[in-house]
Amino acid sequence: MQTMKLGEVTIARVIEIDRSSFPTSAMLPDSTADAIAAHHHWLKPHFFDERTGDLASRIQTYVVRTPRHTVVIDTGVGNDKRRAGAPAWHMRGSSYLDDLAAVGVRPEHVDFVLCTHLHVDHVGWNTRWQDGRWVPTFPKAEYVIAGAEWEFWKYESDTGKEESGCIADSVVPVVEAGQARLVDSDFKVDEHLRFEPSIGHTPGHVCVRLTTSAGEAVFSGDLMHRTVQVAEPQWSSRFCYDSAGARATRRAFVERHADSGTLILAGHFPHPGFIVREGGGYRFTPAA
Ligand SMILES: [Zn+2]
Repeated sequence: MQTMKLGEVTIARVIEIDRSSFPTSAMLPDSTADAIAAHHHWLKPHFFDERTGDLASRIQTYVVRTPRHTVVIDTGVGNDKRRAGAPAWHMRGSSYLDDLAAVGVRPEHVDFVLCTHLHVDHVGWNTRWQDGRWVPTFPKAEYVIAGAEWEFWKYESDTGKEESGCIADSVVPVVEAGQARLVDSDFKVDEHLRFEPSIGHTPGHVCVRLTTSAGEAVFSGDLMHRTVQVAEPQWSSRFCYDSAGARATRRAFVERHADSGTLILAGHFPHPGFIVREGGGYRFTPAA
């Protein structure tokens, strides 16, 4: 995806990791190879990764520039973070900030960081290691987080149930710096961007809806992990907090956006695109 323009707004992205950290069979435990193969006619080539022989996936940040604001949506895994049990995420030294600069954004330019949810692969670059401590990567930004999401993960972290350590090293420092804004799940960020509750994957998961003079887009976070879930919305991921709730949210989302022309930008999809009806079901088609 090059930089896209939607009316008065531009959308870019920074890819931090360009392949899946988990095979689809592990990510979507209800899926089967045969059921996925039945969708290969539309999954290939755009949503398939020939290097791995599996569905394509990204860990990425979306950058939205409205006439007034520079906004970052979700911040990946981060550098220098201890992630026991996840070698691909452990003590990374990636060029993320240079890649952000390559799409024209320096950390001090960012007005808002929007967190769809507080999982380890979505909050990493909230902070960076500087002078012996974690500091907010984006020094002037307000980090907007659904209050319900923060309350849940703060409790999990305080009680030792959150195992990755990402709340302690990537969220708490932002709160302590006074840069977190805890909001309702339907919070309006500005005239273009607003939160929409989409609970299930996590207790306070939100999507971010973008409204422009040329149509709408939705940054759907981890409401879906793999494009095949557009056609098989009953498949929740192994990381969904509430599998049944995630399924219901996903189904409603697919039905609502089918043939709507709304651009869908999911946290881990390899391309933005559109949900379309096909036969009696649904599929995803890449944006041009
Ligand atoms: Zn994720």
